[in-house]
Amino acid sequence: MPAANYKDNDTIVARVTPAGRGGVAIIRISGPDVCSLAKQLLKTSPEPRTAIYARFFDAADEIIDTGIALYFPGPASFTGEDVLEFQGHGGALLVEMILERALELGARLAEPGEFSRRAFLNDKIDLSQAEAIADLIDSGSRAAARAAQRSLQGNFSSAILSLNHKLTELRMFVEAAIDFPEEEIDFLSDSKLKARLDDVAATFVALEKTVKQGRLLRDGIHVVLAGRPNAGKSSLLNALAGYDAAIVTDIPGTTRDIVREHIDLDGLPLHVIDTAGLRDTTGKVELEGIKRARAQIEKADHALLIVDASDENPRLVATLREEIPEGIGYTVVRNKIDLIGGQSGLDAELPDVINISAKQGLGLDELRKHLKSAVGYEFDGHESITARQRHVDSLNRARLHFDEGSRQLTEFSAGELMAEELLQAQNALAEITGQFTSDDLLGEIFSRFCIGK
Ligand code: GDP
Repeated sequence: MPAANYKDNDTIVARVTPAGRGGVAIIRISGPDVCSLAKQLLKTSPEPRTAIYARFFDAADEIIDTGIALYFPGPASFTGEDVLEFQGHGGALLVEMILERALELGARLAEPGEFSRRAFLNDKIDLSQAEAIADLIDSGSRAAARAAQRSLQGNFSSAILSLNHKLTELRMFVEAAIDFPEEEIDFLSDSKLKARLDDVAATFVALEKTVKQGRLLRDGIHVVLAGRPNAGKSSLLNALAGYDAAIVTDIPGTTRDIVREHIDLDGLPLHVIDTAGLRDTTGKVELEGIKRARAQIEKADHALLIVDASDENPRLVATLREEIPEGIGYTVVRNKIDLIGGQSGLDAELPDVINISAKQGLGLDELRKHLKSAVGYEFDGHESITARQRHVDSLNRARLHFDEGSRQLTEFSAGELMAEELLQAQNALAEITGQFTSDDLLGEIFSRFCIGK
């Protein structure tokens, strides 16, 4: 599976703790030459899976550093290969000297994600589990971390395998009917076939739901706060974040740039983008802010149009609506309701209007609930897994093949076509776990990992 220029026979080395100064730094070496490297670096052969106090030597037999050495002979190691880990003092220069020594002895620096890639290539983990490692490290909320841990433990993989198993059974059932054409009529009217099709369809629906939630948990949603200057966008951002993230002043146009805030909404990472006030201006800096605001709106999942309830008119909402491209959902948020007693003249036909006071914290829970339901987020703490857009896409493709196969079978009694579609569906599912994945995709996935993972 590795690309032509990708030598997974090399012995690789990297610092696995973050760069910079710290109490301890960990260096990991993996590959076929680990034993001989260990002998030269440590001047001893470490015991398997035993922490030993060791000295790391340079070429002139001078001690570079002292610390703990751990040796994991393959295949019982993270990568499946022989692995040596050294925990030394966390000085940037010390780490560099040890890395240099390992390079002198024939190792090469690991590419980003290369340890995980080897773990995948050596069947220690499948692709969705490898991705879960990256998600676990990057998780933006506790719920996302727990979901990533579940994926890493194989919950997602086993759901895919179970669906795949059902597809195999169905395909065998259909292929058996193709092999015995005289029984085909019976076969099609067989209630068992209908039950199997329904079962697979229901499994797809359940898994699609889980994967959709998993993707939301991982990626979160991008919400744009749009509105005229002084409507209270920065105040709302601060109220949602729970601390002062944006500058709040009463001078129009003070939010010069986009401020991003990552807020945990019951596990759903909410990426809020506070835009430069969308108003006509000739100021150069502000014009740039407005340009960026428009670009953010194009990419958002949802928009909140903030209006000042004490100074609103329906035409203003209409103008803000024009800023939102087709297909992006939006909600009108009437801020500063503490300043007004009753209703005001907002367009009664507006779909969603939420009344809040960013200053006094009124209506914020309702707004949070509304946002979650607007993007279809239903948190299930026990079932959640982490998922990516590529998983959603592969699952969709698998589903389309299954649907097309079912249609071919039920409408045209075309068993062969059904069997072929089922095979395509299984290939699409195999992309998720990595049994059927191109080198390019692997390269793309692992190159996004951090160095040393
Ligand atoms: P932005 O320009 O849209 O980001 O608006 P700001 O958040 O900077 O707020 C503009 C002014 O309105 C500030 O003086 C805020 O204190 C005030 N403000 C914001 N939200 C509320 C609110 O809910 N009630 C009241 N009374 N004033 C608010």
